[in-house]
Amino acid sequence: MMEQVALPIVITGHVDHGKSTLIGRLLYDTGVLKEDRFQEIILTSSELGKTTEFAFVLDALEEERERGITIDTTQIYFQTEKRKYVIIDAPGHKEFLRNMITGASYAEAAVLIIDANEGMREQTKRHAYLLSMVGIRDICVVINKMDLVNFSKEVYDKTAADITAFLAPLSIVPKLFIPISALNGINITKRDPLISWYDGLPLTDALDSLEHKAFEKRPFRFPIQDVYKINGQRVIAGRVESGEATKGMPLFILPTGKKTTIKEIKKFLKEDVTVASYGESIGLIMFHNPKLQRGDILTGTNDAIVTHSFDANIFWFYGEYNLNDIIEIKCTTEESIGKMIIHEKFDPATMDKKTEGLDHLEIGEVARVTISTVKSLVIDPFSYIPEMGRFIIEKNGIPVGGGIVV
Ligand code: GDP
Repeated sequence: MMEQVALPIVITGHVDHGKSTLIGRLLYDTGVLKEDRFQEIILTSSELGKTTEFAFVLDALEEERERGITIDTTQIYFQTEKRKYVIIDAPGHKEFLRNMITGASYAEAAVLIIDANEGMREQTKRHAYLLSMVGIRDICVVINKMDLVNFSKEVYDKTAADITAFLAPLSIVPKLFIPISALNGINITKRDPLISWYDGLPLTDALDSLEHKAFEKRPFRFPIQDVYKINGQRVIAGRVESGEATKGMPLFILPTGKKTTIKEIKKFLKEDVTVASYGESIGLIMFHNPKLQRGDILTGTNDAIVTHSFDANIFWFYGEYNLNDIIEIKCTTEESIGKMIIHEKFDPATMDKKTEGLDHLEIGEVARVTISTVKSLVIDPFSYIPEMGRFIIEKNGIPVGGGIVV
């Protein structure tokens, strides 16, 4: 059965290594872009004196979008037999970090594209760095333009070895390596005799082999938004941020660690509800009406972290930060004031590490920090449960940065 919710991916790599061509190919080879539409695009592009190639598909869609005709190119969908995919904005975009951190858009997996003829370049490295900063672990490395290197296994092996060596210190172990030619449609949806030495999967099948984390059995997490008293009973309102809840299920109340059990699940306009799943907004009634408040977290397992101090990667997007500034941390429905120590920071354009000025941050800077809070917070590493591992930093009530728990 096909999964209904699209798996969000990013396609990233150095300029000209073939991102647009790959996207055009994916749309064409998976049948999203119909043959007659494609012929139309080719015709228009040649009339405009442009080269007719797959990279132009994206430009054409972009132009049509601007004229309000077709899809939004920041959210491109394609689908295989197994599931839908949505390609979201890439790390090259300045908004990528901010979107990932604030949850505005979120990628579960990344395709890192490298031109076989050129090998790793500085954007390849920078994007790999950003992927590691935001905790994306499912990375497929595609080595493109294999036609330009005579489909050489030696070139492919060397490029794969180079990128593996570069990613290792970032704790990234790519899930898959695939030799492709985006332009010629080799190893995109099907294999090709020209690369007979490759016995792995083509890209779409390889993506299908990745787990869709939102559907994995993850532990239940329920940050409490509000508590209402209705007919003497407390109804606990919130959104299921991970896993699922069933009637009669035992839960932990964090940060205290006390235990409780679900008596009833309430959903808007529904009777006799027994299960609530990831993403649903619900009300819960517990046996014995325990005292609960906004900011408490109900969990199915007792493995969430309750702490006053945690390490994070942050992105500063407004104003300045100076050592000893009081910051406000907002994570799901929890809030606390706190302070932060900067261990390392990076220039966002180059990802060069800065060894000086670790007592302040400016707009656009990315940093590895330790945050200490006055109240204890209930959190999870972003790579385990993204919804519980991202937070916003405010100063005087104004959002100034965001981060992920590492
Ligand atoms: P982007 O900047 O990463 O989006 O790269 P593009 O998709 O625009 O591709 C840059 C150039 O590389 C274009 O001229 C493409 O036609 C070319 N290109 C992309 N994939 C291949 C390939 O597999 N083989 C060859 N020979 N050229 C390719």
